[in-house]
Amino acid sequence: MRLVLLGPPGAGKGTQAKLLAEDFKLPHISTGDILRVEVGLKSELGKKVAGFVRSGELVPDEIVTAVVKKRLLKEDAKGGFILDGFPRTITQAEQLNTALKKLNTPIDLVIYFQTQPQVSIKRLSGRRVCKKCGANFHLVNMPTKVFGICDFCQAELFHREDDQENTVKKRLEIYNQQTSSLIDYYTRAGKLEKVSGDLEAKQLNQILLDLFTQSNLITSDND
Ligand code: AMP
Repeated sequence: MRLVLLGPPGAGKGTQAKLLAEDFKLPHISTGDILRVEVGLKSELGKKVAGFVRSGELVPDEIVTAVVKKRLLKEDAKGGFILDGFPRTITQAEQLNTALKKLNTPIDLVIYFQTQPQVSIKRLSGRRVCKKCGANFHLVNMPTKVFGICDFCQAELFHREDDQENTVKKRLEIYNQQTSSLIDYYTRAGKLEKVSGDLEAKQLNQILLDLFTQSNLITSDND
């Protein structure tokens, strides 16, 4: 199964991608996660993209597409993948199409998480991320057992710089200007399915599983 998760920041794409990746044993390819790791490592790539990632601007297409193309060639992506946060521009979508055509592995489905801006803002302003294992929590929706401490590895949590309210608003604007045109693009390609990103995670996960069954991507017993 080859999926693209599309939607504004805070739509719950990462949460669903993690659940689906576990269920279907597929790699969850989040360009945001990959870029943040590179920024943390202060690698050549990390130094190039740090300013964009911190300020919520989009990293230039050719840089991010090269990252994805390399990732898609890894062994674990041969049986399918879940792309989260890529593509974000028409150019990226076209470059992805070309790369997948060469591999003869087209996208099966693009899932658009339709989400109200106030829901995105609430989710991101309350999101806290583990410094060590990267697990996501939320101050209200998914609090940790001990305040500020990861439930899984007991490391400290932090508030992403780009999850501060002003940067979130800017990210939403950038999404509207540069990414939302992909909704039409993938509708025309006959690949788009809409779901509500406003829903709570478990409910949305069930809707996605039903959608995969209806689209014949899985059988109802989840084989
Ligand atoms: P995310 O975790 O998906 O919200 O991404 C965090 C940041 O990484 C974004 O605000 C961008 O700076 C950068 N980024 C992630 N994916 C892309 C992409 N497909 N194109 C350009 N920049 C990206």
